[in-house]
Amino acid sequence: MSASEGPTLHVHGRVLLGDDREVGDIWVKDGRVSLTRPSAQGTNMMTLEGWVLPGLVDVHCHIGLGADGGVDAATAQAQAVADRDAGVLLVRDAGSPVDTGWVHRRPDLPRLVRAGRHLARPKRYLRGYGLELEDVHDLPGAVRREARAGDGWVKIVGDWIDRSLGDEGDLRPLWPDDVLAEAVAVAHAEAARVTVHAFSDEVIPSLLAAGVDCIEHGTGIHPDLMYEISERGVAVTPTLLQIGEFERIAARADGRYPRFAARMRALHARRYEQARQLFEAGIQVLVGTDAGGTIGHGRIADECAELVAAGIPAADVVAAASWQAREYLGYAALVEGSSADFVVYPSDPRADVGVLRAPTAVVLRGQVVAPAR
Ligand SMILES: [Zn+2]
Repeated sequence: MSASEGPTLHVHGRVLLGDDREVGDIWVKDGRVSLTRPSAQGTNMMTLEGWVLPGLVDVHCHIGLGADGGVDAATAQAQAVADRDAGVLLVRDAGSPVDTGWVHRRPDLPRLVRAGRHLARPKRYLRGYGLELEDVHDLPGAVRREARAGDGWVKIVGDWIDRSLGDEGDLRPLWPDDVLAEAVAVAHAEAARVTVHAFSDEVIPSLLAAGVDCIEHGTGIHPDLMYEISERGVAVTPTLLQIGEFERIAARADGRYPRFAARMRALHARRYEQARQLFEAGIQVLVGTDAGGTIGHGRIADECAELVAAGIPAADVVAAASWQAREYLGYAALVEGSSADFVVYPSDPRADVGVLRAPTAVVLRGQVVAPAR
């Protein structure tokens, strides 16, 4: 073997492969990970040292979405780069008004799992974000189309403020139970999983009856239902950065929608306790920033810090943001021959989750992509 055929990258330190599994070294050749010391060394081999995590995952992120709806490709690319440079190398896009399928062809951008467009109803979600179905009975057909256009996930808006109730306006479910159940069955027949935006408590029983796979936000999940959610294997993404905005949302609704404002304030006040109880009930808690819309991209470390502030142990948050989320989405962590997608840190992020804010190196498909040199 000539020197040029050897690995291009050697990573030495503490390489975390999964729960309770780590090695001291990995090598990268042709964009792939090897756990075995090579017989020949490349002449131009670079060495990185530190704590290594399989590429981080943001499971609730909107590439292609801005505050007013869809954005152009240059803006979507900048969003993806911001996520990548923060160590996020796999994104589950939780709804985007524009088709970002072109990201799949860009080796410099994170891997992307698209859920297609948010499925909502007129005046029952943020304007310009989703596909607004005039007739609720169109939901199953829309789910089929989005499932076929996306990457194995569908996003349904489960509840939103109903302003037609006037000063009684408050969070209300969008879909009749039977329609929702049919829609989820259609998605599953298309081999797609379903995740649902849910702020309220009222919507949760219908989601469980319909057999949804994942719940976004989950602020209203009653503690009495948490054990059932855990048993059913339904994951929940607490999106604490987004829930942190509820006080501001309530302030804008004051006067016009007092019931809604009071509810959002109560959910805001309970947000940390809620996230901790979800975790303690054994529910798979996922890490999602809800970037796009009003939250900036590249904030996975901030969301992790929020989950730790809520009382979830840092080691569990790190696992949830890395190898556990990769497995949940059907992607490898770091195994022999897997794509070399990993992040190097100067110290152990399980001891101080703040370490996630400043990676030493972000390696995507075997290339060091960040920080800029
Ligand atoms: Zn979202």
